Amino acid sequence: MSEEDRPSPDPVRDMSPDQFRKWGGEVVEWVARYLETVEELPVMAQVRPGDIRSQLPQSPPEGGESMEAILADLDRIIVPGITHWNHPSFFAYFPSSAAGAGILGEMLSAALNVNGMVWKTSPSATELESTVLDWLRQMIGLSADFQGIVYDTTSVGTFHALTAARNAIPEWDVAENGVAGPDAPRLTLYTSEHAHSSVEKGALAIGLGRRGVRKIPVDSEYRMDVAALEAAIQKDRAAGFRPFCVSATVGTTSTTSIDPVDRIADVTEREGLWLHVDAAYAGAAAILPERADILSGCNRADSFVMNPHKWMFTPIEFTAFYTRRPDALRAAFSLVPEYLKTAEDASVTNYMDYGIQLGRRFRSLKLWMVMRYFGVDGFRSLLGEHMRLARLFASFVEQDSRFEIAAPVPFSTVCFRLRTGDDDNSRLMERVNATGKIFISHTRVDDRFTLRFSIGNVKTEERHVRDAWDLIASEAG
Ligand SMILES: *Cc1c(COP(=O)(O)O)cnc(C)c1O
Repeated sequence: MSEEDRPSPDPVRDMSPDQFRKWGGEVVEWVARYLETVEELPVMAQVRPGDIRSQLPQSPPEGGESMEAILADLDRIIVPGITHWNHPSFFAYFPSSAAGAGILGEMLSAALNVNGMVWKTSPSATELESTVLDWLRQMIGLSADFQGIVYDTTSVGTFHALTAARNAIPEWDVAENGVAGPDAPRLTLYTSEHAHSSVEKGALAIGLGRRGVRKIPVDSEYRMDVAALEAAIQKDRAAGFRPFCVSATVGTTSTTSIDPVDRIADVTEREGLWLHVDAAYAGAAAILPERADILSGCNRADSFVMNPHKWMFTPIEFTAFYTRRPDALRAAFSLVPEYLKTAEDASVTNYMDYGIQLGRRFRSLKLWMVMRYFGVDGFRSLLGEHMRLARLFASFVEQDSRFEIAAPVPFSTVCFRLRTGDDDNSRLMERVNATGKIFISHTRVDDRFTLRFSIGNVKTEERHVRDAWDLIASEAG
């Protein structure tokens, strides 16, 4: 027997079931205690760049370490550098919180550790994904001709939409010829100047270049100006460009404004353009019957994306992507090598055909568990409550003459500011965030520094909103 063939004397094995039982129990207890006490921690991590890294060894451990030591370092080193998205006073950006059922769902999907690249590699992963996305489709009122797929983020979802749209133009075979060359059409994409940066990023990624992106102006309520959209398309056609796609937004990132999707769809249908709708944050609000109108026109879209990992209490990452043209998406991304062909290919969905990823986590398990735990009624009551709390917060702002509301409040996000200058507002934000009691963020509206207060954490109650306002009002001096 050669040296290499001899069994190593004492191979390290994975944890025994009993050890797992012990440490699993400890970790579940850790999580329960964390969720119980997260409110006492500073919302925004109070550390400086490099503080965490400097406490971590520069090289990996040569020998295995005990779970005691690892978990002790979690408390000692890692937790101080955490900004607590699960804190009920997290009001920055768009909140993303993990409901208990979602945390347990993540744990179970890690345990099963399925790779759902094709149906055969775990039929349940594929079929639960289709089912959960169809439930969500019904909850927000999209028509039955939309088919869903789960991606990690809206940015990646929008990238897929733009790729499908680009490859679907009939007169130039992008999959065959690419996007460059003297005969290639000069493609142009349209979105509002309030659209999320991921739209432009997606355009850059598919080879459009900044020159291929048109940022259409908005009206006084930050909605895409449809007349300006039409004018831009005509101007581009006259100049020899090839318009191919419009990306509209329901719930823009700065002010949560709603583009007039119905009127935009009139334009895209007439002009033969792909219509994509980014409803990453606000799409969930359509679960409320009285707010179903926010998706008016979306049934005419070619693709639609929203984030259950924002306002549906599902641990990040979970993005629901829908398209009425799954064949176009598939045409853009399907490339099946011999070793991935299966006998069932003709009769099943192989999700690897609908995106850039081959390997896919079992993401739908966590949304399935969150949906079943809350039920449609549970989402309605939580989202309705968050919107009520946003109106309450807006009323506090309105009653204080030092402040003003900066934009309409259609959902659970309030844009507001001190009437004095940008510096006062940015200092106020720094001061309140430095207390560790709340976390708010900012944007620019009408080129003015504007504070954003967004409610969406599953644990946020009225007292958190009242306390936050008291803190902001007192720090405003
Ligand atoms: C949050 C958000 C995005 C980006 O979402 P990711 O999932 O982080 O990529 C895009 N568009 C809108 C409107 C958003 O609110």
